[in-house]
Amino acid sequence: MTRTLSTRITNLTPGGSDGWEVFYRARQMAESGADVIELTIGEHDIRTAPDILAAMDDAARAGHTGYAAVPGTQALRDTVAARIAARTGAPTTRDNILVTPGGQAALYAAHHAVCDEGDQALFIDPYYTTYPGTIRGVGAQPVPVLSRPEHAFQPQRADIEAAADGATSLLVNTPNNPTGAVYSRATLEGIAAACDAHDLWLISDEVYDTQVWDGAHLSPRALPGMAERTLVVGSMSKSHAMTGSRVGWVCGPEVVIDHMLNLATHTTYGVPGYIQDAAVFALNQGKDAEERVAAPFRRRRTIAHDLLARQEVVRAAPAQGAMYVMLDIRATGLGGVDFANRLLDEAGIAVMPGDSFGAGGAGHVRVAMTVADTAFEAAMTRLLDFAASVRP
Ligand code: PMP
Repeated sequence: MTRTLSTRITNLTPGGSDGWEVFYRARQMAESGADVIELTIGEHDIRTAPDILAAMDDAARAGHTGYAAVPGTQALRDTVAARIAARTGAPTTRDNILVTPGGQAALYAAHHAVCDEGDQALFIDPYYTTYPGTIRGVGAQPVPVLSRPEHAFQPQRADIEAAADGATSLLVNTPNNPTGAVYSRATLEGIAAACDAHDLWLISDEVYDTQVWDGAHLSPRALPGMAERTLVVGSMSKSHAMTGSRVGWVCGPEVVIDHMLNLATHTTYGVPGYIQDAAVFALNQGKDAEERVAAPFRRRRTIAHDLLARQEVVRAAPAQGAMYVMLDIRATGLGGVDFANRLLDEAGIAVMPGDSFGAGGAGHVRVAMTVADTAFEAAMTRLLDFAASVRP
Protein backbone atom coordinates (compact mmCIF):
# COMPACT_ATOMS: atom_id res chain seq x y z
CA MET A 1 0.00 0.00 0.00
CA THR A 2 1.48 3.35 -0.96
CA ARG A 3 -1.65 5.43 -0.67
CA THR A 4 -1.55 7.84 2.27
CA LEU A 5 -4.24 8.37 4.88
CA SER A 6 -6.22 11.57 5.29
CA THR A 7 -4.48 14.44 7.01
CA ARG A 8 -7.92 15.50 8.27
CA ILE A 9 -7.66 12.69 10.82
CA THR A 10 -3.90 12.56 11.39
CA ASN A 11 -3.99 16.31 12.15
CA LEU A 12 -6.58 15.90 14.90
CA THR A 13 -3.73 15.36 17.37
CA PRO A 14 -0.51 17.23 16.68
CA GLY A 15 1.77 14.34 17.71
CA GLY A 16 4.26 14.20 20.54
CA SER A 17 2.94 13.71 24.04
CA ASP A 18 -0.82 13.31 24.28
CA GLY A 19 -0.78 14.02 28.02
CA TRP A 20 -2.12 10.58 28.93
CA GLU A 21 1.24 8.86 29.62
CA VAL A 22 0.67 8.67 33.38
CA PHE A 23 -2.75 7.15 32.78
CA TYR A 24 -1.41 4.50 30.39
CA ARG A 25 1.47 3.70 32.73
CA ALA A 26 -0.92 3.35 35.69
CA ARG A 27 -3.09 0.95 33.67
CA GLN A 28 -0.04 -1.14 32.77
CA MET A 29 1.14 -1.23 36.38
CA ALA A 30 -2.34 -2.25 37.57
CA GLU A 31 -2.51 -4.98 34.92
CA SER A 32 0.79 -6.41 36.12
CA GLY A 33 -0.58 -6.64 39.63
CA ALA A 34 0.66 -3.42 41.25
CA ASP A 35 -1.53 -1.73 43.85
CA VAL A 36 -2.49 1.50 42.06
CA ILE A 37 -5.35 3.87 42.89
CA GLU A 38 -6.49 5.57 39.67
CA LEU A 39 -7.79 9.09 40.01
CA THR A 40 -7.40 9.85 36.34
CA ILE A 41 -10.49 9.42 34.23
CA GLY A 42 -13.84 11.20 34.49
CA GLU A 43 -16.07 8.21 34.91
CA HIS A 44 -18.33 7.36 37.86
CA ASP A 45 -17.59 4.37 40.07
CA ILE A 46 -21.31 3.53 39.86
CA ARG A 47 -23.18 2.25 36.81
CA THR A 48 -26.45 3.31 35.17
CA ALA A 49 -29.35 2.83 37.62
CA PRO A 50 -31.40 -0.39 37.21
CA ASP A 51 -34.67 1.50 36.63
CA ILE A 52 -33.12 3.33 33.68
CA LEU A 53 -31.87 0.01 32.28
CA ALA A 54 -35.36 -1.45 32.73
CA ALA A 55 -36.81 1.48 30.75
CA MET A 56 -34.24 0.82 28.03
CA ASP A 57 -35.07 -2.88 27.97
CA ASP A 58 -38.84 -2.19 27.87
CA ALA A 59 -38.40 0.24 24.98
CA ALA A 60 -36.25 -2.18 22.99
CA ARG A 61 -38.69 -5.05 23.58
CA ALA A 62 -41.57 -2.80 22.58
CA GLY A 63 -39.87 -2.50 19.20
CA HIS A 64 -37.99 0.80 19.40
CA THR A 65 -35.04 -0.82 17.70
CA GLY A 66 -35.48 0.63 14.21
CA TYR A 67 -34.14 3.91 12.88
CA ALA A 68 -35.18 6.71 15.19
CA ALA A 69 -35.98 10.18 13.84
CA VAL A 70 -32.61 11.75 12.97
CA PRO A 71 -33.04 14.95 15.07
CA GLY A 72 -34.13 12.84 18.05
CA THR A 73 -37.47 11.48 19.21
CA GLN A 74 -40.14 14.09 19.85
CA ALA A 75 -40.39 12.85 23.44
CA LEU A 76 -36.72 13.38 24.20
CA ARG A 77 -36.51 16.72 22.36
CA ASP A 78 -39.59 17.91 24.29
CA THR A 79 -38.19 16.69 27.61
CA VAL A 80 -34.79 18.31 27.06
CA ALA A 81 -36.43 21.54 25.83
CA ALA A 82 -38.67 21.73 28.90
CA ARG A 83 -35.69 21.11 31.18
CA ILE A 84 -33.62 23.85 29.53
CA ALA A 85 -36.57 26.28 29.52
CA ALA A 86 -37.09 25.66 33.23
CA ARG A 87 -33.40 26.15 34.02
CA THR A 88 -32.77 29.21 31.83
CA GLY A 89 -36.11 30.97 31.50
CA ALA A 90 -35.39 31.23 27.76
CA PRO A 91 -38.27 29.96 25.60
CA THR A 92 -37.12 26.58 24.29
CA THR A 93 -38.99 24.03 22.17
CA ARG A 94 -38.12 20.79 20.44
CA ASP A 95 -37.11 22.84 17.38
CA ASN A 96 -34.17 24.14 19.42
CA ILE A 97 -32.90 20.63 20.19
CA LEU A 98 -30.81 18.14 18.22
CA VAL A 99 -30.16 14.82 19.97
CA THR A 100 -26.60 13.54 19.41
CA PRO A 101 -24.59 10.44 20.35
CA GLY A 102 -23.20 12.08 23.52
CA GLY A 103 -21.77 15.48 24.31
CA GLN A 104 -18.64 14.82 22.26
CA ALA A 105 -20.64 14.49 19.02
CA ALA A 106 -22.54 17.62 20.10
CA LEU A 107 -19.27 19.56 20.49
CA TYR A 108 -18.21 18.43 17.03
CA ALA A 109 -21.58 19.25 15.44
CA ALA A 110 -21.71 22.68 17.10
CA HIS A 111 -18.27 23.66 15.77
CA HIS A 112 -19.04 22.18 12.37
CA ALA A 113 -22.21 24.24 12.23
CA VAL A 114 -20.57 27.61 12.82
CA CYS A 115 -16.91 27.39 11.75
CA ASP A 116 -15.60 27.36 8.21
CA GLU A 117 -12.24 26.01 7.10
CA GLY A 118 -9.44 28.08 8.64
CA ASP A 119 -11.69 30.01 11.04
CA GLN A 120 -10.31 30.76 14.48
CA ALA A 121 -12.20 29.00 17.26
CA LEU A 122 -11.40 30.15 20.80
CA PHE A 123 -11.50 27.86 23.82
CA ILE A 124 -10.59 28.31 27.47
CA ASP A 125 -7.33 26.74 28.69
CA PRO A 126 -7.07 24.55 30.87
CA TYR A 127 -9.52 22.58 28.76
CA TYR A 128 -11.16 19.18 28.35
CA THR A 129 -8.67 17.20 26.30
CA THR A 130 -10.70 16.71 23.12
CA TYR A 131 -11.36 20.43 22.53
CA PRO A 132 -8.44 21.35 20.23
CA GLY A 133 -8.82 18.13 18.21
CA THR A 134 -12.54 18.69 17.83
CA ILE A 135 -11.88 22.17 16.47
CA ARG A 136 -9.16 20.91 14.12
CA GLY A 137 -11.52 18.16 13.02
CA VAL A 138 -13.90 20.68 11.47
CA GLY A 139 -10.98 22.41 9.73
CA ALA A 140 -10.85 25.37 12.12
CA GLN A 141 -7.88 26.65 14.05
CA PRO A 142 -7.93 26.18 17.85
CA VAL A 143 -6.93 29.32 19.78
CA PRO A 144 -6.51 28.92 23.57
CA VAL A 145 -7.48 31.70 25.97
CA LEU A 146 -5.89 31.24 29.39
CA SER A 147 -7.88 31.17 32.59
CA ARG A 148 -5.59 31.67 35.55
CA PRO A 149 -5.25 30.24 39.06
CA GLU A 150 -5.10 33.80 40.46
CA HIS A 151 -8.63 34.30 39.11
CA ALA A 152 -9.75 30.90 40.43
CA PHE A 153 -9.78 29.80 36.76
CA GLN A 154 -12.66 32.16 35.94
CA PRO A 155 -12.00 33.41 32.39
CA GLN A 156 -11.62 37.18 32.13
CA ARG A 157 -13.35 39.29 29.52
CA ALA A 158 -10.10 41.16 28.70
CA ASP A 159 -8.27 37.89 27.94
CA ILE A 160 -11.07 36.77 25.63
CA GLU A 161 -11.21 40.13 23.88
CA ALA A 162 -7.43 40.11 23.38
CA ALA A 163 -7.81 36.95 21.26
CA ALA A 164 -11.20 37.63 19.70
CA ASP A 165 -10.38 39.79 16.68
CA GLY A 166 -11.31 37.82 13.59
CA ALA A 167 -12.41 34.76 15.60
CA THR A 168 -15.68 32.93 14.90
CA SER A 169 -16.55 31.13 18.09
CA LEU A 170 -15.73 30.69 21.76
CA LEU A 171 -16.07 27.39 23.63
CA VAL A 172 -16.58 27.55 27.40
CA ASN A 173 -17.27 24.85 29.98
CA THR A 174 -19.04 25.31 33.31
CA PRO A 175 -18.88 23.46 35.70
CA ASN A 176 -15.36 23.03 34.39
CA ASN A 177 -13.28 20.01 33.61
CA PRO A 178 -10.44 20.02 34.69
CA THR A 179 -10.50 22.97 37.13
CA GLY A 180 -13.79 22.42 39.01
CA ALA A 181 -14.64 26.11 38.54
CA VAL A 182 -18.32 27.05 38.25
CA TYR A 183 -18.51 30.31 36.32
CA SER A 184 -20.03 33.17 38.26
CA ARG A 185 -22.68 35.48 36.85
CA ALA A 186 -20.00 38.18 36.50
CA THR A 187 -17.75 35.81 34.53
CA LEU A 188 -20.61 34.80 32.25
CA GLU A 189 -21.63 38.40 31.73
CA GLY A 190 -18.04 39.17 30.73
CA ILE A 191 -18.08 36.23 28.31
CA ALA A 192 -21.41 37.41 26.89
CA ALA A 193 -20.13 40.97 26.46
CA ALA A 194 -17.01 39.71 24.66
CA CYS A 195 -19.13 37.53 22.34
CA ASP A 196 -21.42 40.45 21.62
CA ALA A 197 -18.58 42.91 20.99
CA HIS A 198 -16.79 40.52 18.59
CA ASP A 199 -19.86 38.82 17.13
CA LEU A 200 -18.78 35.36 18.31
CA TRP A 201 -20.83 32.21 18.49
CA LEU A 202 -20.72 30.90 22.04
CA ILE A 203 -20.54 27.13 22.50
CA SER A 204 -21.36 26.32 26.11
CA ASP A 205 -20.42 22.84 27.32
CA GLU A 206 -22.71 22.16 30.29
CA VAL A 207 -22.36 18.40 30.63
CA TYR A 208 -21.62 18.77 34.37
CA ASP A 209 -24.61 21.02 35.08
CA THR A 210 -26.02 18.69 37.78
CA GLN A 211 -22.73 18.54 39.71
CA VAL A 212 -22.46 21.86 41.51
CA TRP A 213 -21.17 22.02 45.09
CA ASP A 214 -20.88 25.79 45.56
CA GLY A 215 -23.21 28.40 44.10
CA ALA A 216 -25.50 27.53 41.21
CA HIS A 217 -25.12 26.59 37.59
CA LEU A 218 -25.94 29.45 35.24
CA SER A 219 -26.23 28.84 31.51
CA PRO A 220 -25.28 31.71 29.19
CA ARG A 221 -28.47 30.86 27.30
CA ALA A 222 -30.25 32.53 30.23
CA LEU A 223 -28.49 35.89 29.72
CA PRO A 224 -30.22 38.71 27.80
CA GLY A 225 -29.74 38.40 24.04
CA MET A 226 -27.51 35.31 24.32
CA ALA A 227 -29.97 32.59 23.25
CA GLU A 228 -29.50 33.71 19.62
CA ARG A 229 -25.75 33.20 19.62
CA THR A 230 -25.33 30.33 22.10
CA LEU A 231 -25.17 26.60 21.40
CA VAL A 232 -25.53 24.62 24.62
CA VAL A 233 -23.96 21.15 24.72
CA GLY A 234 -25.63 18.71 27.12
CA SER A 235 -25.35 15.01 27.88
CA MET A 236 -26.79 12.18 29.95
CA SER A 237 -23.26 10.85 30.58
CA LYS A 238 -22.38 12.67 33.79
CA SER A 239 -25.82 13.55 35.17
CA HIS A 240 -27.20 10.00 35.03
CA ALA A 241 -24.08 7.82 34.86
CA MET A 242 -24.94 6.94 31.26
CA THR A 243 -21.49 7.43 29.71
CA GLY A 244 -21.77 4.26 27.62
CA SER A 245 -25.24 5.02 26.29
CA ARG A 246 -23.92 7.87 24.16
CA VAL A 247 -26.78 10.32 24.34
CA GLY A 248 -26.52 14.09 24.47
CA TRP A 249 -27.79 17.16 22.64
CA VAL A 250 -27.19 20.60 21.26
CA CYS A 251 -29.66 23.36 22.13
CA GLY A 252 -29.60 26.47 19.95
CA PRO A 253 -31.42 28.69 17.48
CA GLU A 254 -33.72 26.78 15.11
CA VAL A 255 -31.69 27.67 11.99
CA VAL A 256 -28.55 26.21 13.55
CA ILE A 257 -30.40 23.06 14.60
CA ASP A 258 -31.71 22.61 11.02
CA HIS A 259 -28.17 23.12 9.71
CA MET A 260 -26.79 20.48 12.10
CA LEU A 261 -29.61 18.10 11.22
CA ASN A 262 -28.18 17.96 7.72
CA LEU A 263 -24.82 17.02 9.24
CA ALA A 264 -26.41 14.36 11.45
CA THR A 265 -28.17 12.83 8.42
CA HIS A 266 -24.78 12.37 6.77
CA THR A 267 -22.82 11.20 9.80
CA THR A 268 -24.55 9.57 12.77
CA TYR A 269 -28.07 9.17 11.38
CA GLY A 270 -29.41 9.61 14.88
CA VAL A 271 -29.32 7.90 18.24
CA PRO A 272 -30.99 4.53 19.04
CA GLY A 273 -34.66 4.97 20.00
CA TYR A 274 -34.50 2.70 23.07
CA ILE A 275 -31.60 4.75 24.43
CA GLN A 276 -33.58 7.95 23.90
CA ASP A 277 -36.61 6.39 25.65
CA ALA A 278 -34.37 5.52 28.59
CA ALA A 279 -33.09 9.11 28.62
CA VAL A 280 -36.68 10.43 28.77
CA PHE A 281 -37.39 8.06 31.66
CA ALA A 282 -34.20 9.15 33.46
CA LEU A 283 -34.88 12.88 33.03
CA ASN A 284 -38.43 12.38 34.33
CA GLN A 285 -37.06 10.95 37.60
CA GLY A 286 -36.27 14.52 38.56
CA LYS A 287 -33.61 16.10 40.75
CA ASP A 288 -33.39 13.31 43.36
CA ALA A 289 -32.09 10.85 40.78
CA GLU A 290 -29.51 13.39 39.63
CA GLU A 291 -28.46 14.09 43.22
CA ARG A 292 -27.98 10.35 43.82
CA VAL A 293 -25.44 10.31 41.00
CA ALA A 294 -23.79 13.54 42.16
CA ALA A 295 -23.71 12.69 45.90
CA PRO A 296 -20.49 10.60 45.93
CA PHE A 297 -18.55 13.49 44.37
CA ARG A 298 -20.11 15.96 46.79
CA ARG A 299 -18.98 13.74 49.71
CA ARG A 300 -15.45 13.22 48.35
CA ARG A 301 -15.03 16.90 47.65
CA THR A 302 -15.66 17.47 51.38
CA ILE A 303 -13.15 14.72 52.24
CA ALA A 304 -10.54 16.43 50.03
CA HIS A 305 -11.38 19.82 51.45
CA ASP A 306 -10.93 18.63 55.06
CA LEU A 307 -7.60 16.93 54.32
CA LEU A 308 -6.30 19.96 52.43
CA ALA A 309 -7.19 22.24 55.33
CA ARG A 310 -4.78 20.33 57.59
CA GLN A 311 -1.64 21.11 55.59
CA GLU A 312 -0.05 24.02 53.78
CA VAL A 313 1.93 22.60 50.87
CA VAL A 314 -0.82 21.85 48.39
CA ARG A 315 -3.42 24.49 47.57
CA ALA A 316 -6.65 23.67 45.80
CA ALA A 317 -8.49 25.68 43.20
CA PRO A 318 -12.03 26.19 44.56
CA ALA A 319 -13.71 22.84 43.79
CA GLN A 320 -17.15 24.25 42.98
CA GLY A 321 -18.43 21.57 40.65
CA ALA A 322 -17.75 18.53 38.44
CA MET A 323 -15.96 15.38 39.57
CA TYR A 324 -12.45 16.81 39.92
CA VAL A 325 -10.22 18.77 42.27
CA MET A 326 -7.40 20.75 40.72
CA LEU A 327 -4.43 20.91 43.06
CA ASP A 328 -1.77 23.60 42.93
CA ILE A 329 1.47 21.74 43.64
CA ARG A 330 3.90 24.56 42.84
CA ALA A 331 5.15 24.72 46.44
CA THR A 332 6.64 21.23 46.01
CA GLY A 333 9.06 22.58 43.41
CA LEU A 334 7.90 19.88 40.98
CA GLY A 335 6.07 20.44 37.71
CA GLY A 336 2.78 18.62 37.12
CA VAL A 337 4.31 15.86 34.97
CA ASP A 338 7.14 15.10 37.41
CA PHE A 339 4.78 15.23 40.37
CA ALA A 340 2.34 12.82 38.73
CA ASN A 341 5.07 10.41 37.63
CA ARG A 342 6.74 10.33 41.03
CA LEU A 343 3.42 10.06 42.85
CA LEU A 344 2.64 7.01 40.72
CA ASP A 345 6.03 5.38 41.29
CA GLU A 346 6.49 6.25 44.95
CA ALA A 347 2.92 6.19 46.29
CA GLY A 348 0.93 4.14 43.73
CA ILE A 349 -1.50 6.99 43.03
CA ALA A 350 -2.35 8.02 39.47
CA VAL A 351 -3.49 11.59 38.83
CA MET A 352 -3.41 13.69 35.67
CA PRO A 353 -0.69 16.34 35.25
CA GLY A 354 -2.37 19.73 34.84
CA ASP A 355 -0.22 20.23 31.74
CA SER A 356 -2.31 17.54 30.00
CA PHE A 357 -5.10 20.13 29.90
CA GLY A 358 -3.07 22.93 28.37
CA ALA A 359 -0.52 25.53 29.39
CA GLY A 360 -2.93 26.97 31.95
CA GLY A 361 -2.78 23.71 33.92
CA ALA A 362 0.98 23.93 34.58
CA GLY A 363 1.98 23.55 38.23
CA HIS A 364 -1.20 21.63 38.96
CA VAL A 365 -2.53 18.07 38.97
CA ARG A 366 -6.13 17.03 38.42
CA VAL A 367 -7.58 14.51 40.84
CA ALA A 368 -10.70 12.67 39.67
CA MET A 369 -12.90 11.82 42.67
CA THR A 370 -13.92 8.57 41.07
CA VAL A 371 -13.09 5.86 43.62
CA ALA A 372 -14.95 4.81 46.79
CA ASP A 373 -14.75 7.26 49.71
CA THR A 374 -12.32 5.20 51.82
CA ALA A 375 -9.93 4.62 48.91
CA PHE A 376 -10.26 8.27 47.95
CA GLU A 377 -9.41 9.43 51.46
CA ALA A 378 -6.41 7.08 51.62
CA ALA A 379 -5.19 8.26 48.20
CA MET A 380 -5.55 11.95 49.07
CA THR A 381 -3.70 11.38 52.34
CA ARG A 382 -0.87 9.63 50.49
CA LEU A 383 -0.78 12.40 47.90
CA LEU A 384 -0.50 15.11 50.53
CA ASP A 385 2.15 13.13 52.47
CA PHE A 386 4.11 12.76 49.24
CA ALA A 387 3.82 16.50 48.53
CA ALA A 388 5.07 17.31 52.05
CA SER A 389 7.98 14.89 51.65
CA VAL A 390 9.28 16.46 48.43
CA ARG A 391 8.82 20.07 49.45
CA PRO A 392 12.28 21.69 49.35
N1 PMP B 1 -17.34 17.84 27.86
C1 PMP B 1 -16.60 17.63 28.97
C2 PMP B 1 -16.10 18.82 29.71
C3 PMP B 1 -16.31 16.33 29.38
O1 PMP B 1 -15.56 16.15 30.48
C4 PMP B 1 -16.79 15.24 28.62
C5 PMP B 1 -16.48 13.80 28.99
N2 PMP B 1 -15.48 13.55 29.86
C6 PMP B 1 -17.57 15.52 27.49
C7 PMP B 1 -17.82 16.82 27.14
C8 PMP B 1 -18.11 14.45 26.60
O2 PMP B 1 -18.94 13.59 27.27
P1 PMP B 1 -19.95 12.62 26.53
O3 PMP B 1 -19.56 12.55 25.09
O4 PMP B 1 -19.85 11.32 27.23
O5 PMP B 1 -21.28 13.27 26.70
